[in-house]
Amino acid sequence: MKRLSIKMRVTLWYALLMLALVVVVLALVSVVGDYVATSGTKDALIAAVEDNMDEVEYDDGELEIDDDFAGLKNGVSSIVYTQDGELVVGSIPSGFETDLPLEETTVRTVSANGRTYYIYDREITFKKHDSLWIRGIVLASDSAGLANAAMKSAFIVLPFLLLVAVLGGYLITKKAFAPFDTISSAANAISEGSDLSGRIEIGSGKDEIHRLAETFNRMFARLETSFEQERQFTSDVSHELRTPVSVITAQCEYTLEYGENTQDYREALATVQRQTHRMHALISQMLEYTRLERGTYTIHREKIDISELVQLLCEERSLAPEKGIALTCEVSPNVVGEVDVMLLERLLTNLLNNAYQYGRENGTIRVQLRAQQGMAMLSVSDDGIGIAQEDIPKIWNRFYQADASRTANTAGSTGLGLSMVQQIVKLHGGTVWVESEPDKGSTFTVCIPI
Ligand code: ADP
Repeated sequence: MKRLSIKMRVTLWYALLMLALVVVVLALVSVVGDYVATSGTKDALIAAVEDNMDEVEYDDGELEIDDDFAGLKNGVSSIVYTQDGELVVGSIPSGFETDLPLEETTVRTVSANGRTYYIYDREITFKKHDSLWIRGIVLASDSAGLANAAMKSAFIVLPFLLLVAVLGGYLITKKAFAPFDTISSAANAISEGSDLSGRIEIGSGKDEIHRLAETFNRMFARLETSFEQERQFTSDVSHELRTPVSVITAQCEYTLEYGENTQDYREALATVQRQTHRMHALISQMLEYTRLERGTYTIHREKIDISELVQLLCEERSLAPEKGIALTCEVSPNVVGEVDVMLLERLLTNLLNNAYQYGRENGTIRVQLRAQQGMAMLSVSDDGIGIAQEDIPKIWNRFYQADASRTANTAGSTGLGLSMVQQIVKLHGGTVWVESEPDKGSTFTVCIPI
């Protein structure tokens, strides 16, 4: 059964069902039809005989048959016999010859000359005279003719209907299932080929199959976007790694060719070191970022005092001052929330790194934390170079660096820091934005539900 296609299974199922139905209907027609026909005839037979009983009487010793006596009524022949079986009134239907004795029983079925008759006998008793008998005879086959005709038509019509129903059903099922073939061949073509832009085209509609096709199409669109992002990511990564590798290669070639003294080699090595640091930062940030972006990172939320964590990070950071920048920390106490500690640390570190990197020498960085309407509001402000308005939307893109020249020589710059911040905020169901003015400074604000 499992090897059969669904449309064959459906067709087979209702073919069998219809067949069973036809058999049951035919059986019912034959039984009920027969019963109705025979019982109708038998009732007529009994009625005719019993009506005629009242029409036979003795008047002054003379046998008198009333005018109302019906010798033939509704196909029933009524015959009056003496007790000895001599015919008094009535005529026997032609072809009906029987020596069946007169007997008061129920209706009897008699066959004569290949035909079936029903007969019904009743005795009429008189006070002073011998009793008489009335026998009713009716041809069974005549009365059953209608039922027979109905049966015959049922035997012809029902199998024909069965055939039409099965054939019609098969065609409808076939038509209904046709889009599945389209869907599966389209899906095969898309999955076998490298082109993910293909879609399933089965026209418009709102039924289950159209909804399935829509779901598939949405899935293909999603896959296409993911593959495109994947491709873009790989190309971005190779592009980013190519720069330091080219610098190292060029530096080595140059120094090997023209390097004359230890000083030249030291400078070359310093460049190589800077570039490898850059590559190292790039690779480790990329790994972290990929895990975050692909959703393979499982967020470990724990209830912590965010105020303490921020305070601690700021204190650690101010232990090693950079560029003479002063770090101030204004933290409202007891901001408690369920967050991923590692990710929150990474977020604040990235924002602080940027603030130091793009901050003014001997300037200030302000870290603020407060709770507001069920949200933890964390902001990092610097008074550094700021960001041009047109660059603001782009800084969240991975590998984007607003001014490559100012970061090119910075080993830790990867252009991934803010993308990571954005992913972390997203994982916590929060938002992040920046307010900035060139040469005045920037304020990054993170808002996370707690
Ligand atoms: P990067 O490793 O280059 O800092 P980010 O993703 O952290 O990468 O930042 C992207 C870009 O946004 C930076 O290259 C810089 O141009 C800009 N930017 C980020 N933070 C600041 C800031 N505090 N002040 C000025 N510009 C910033």
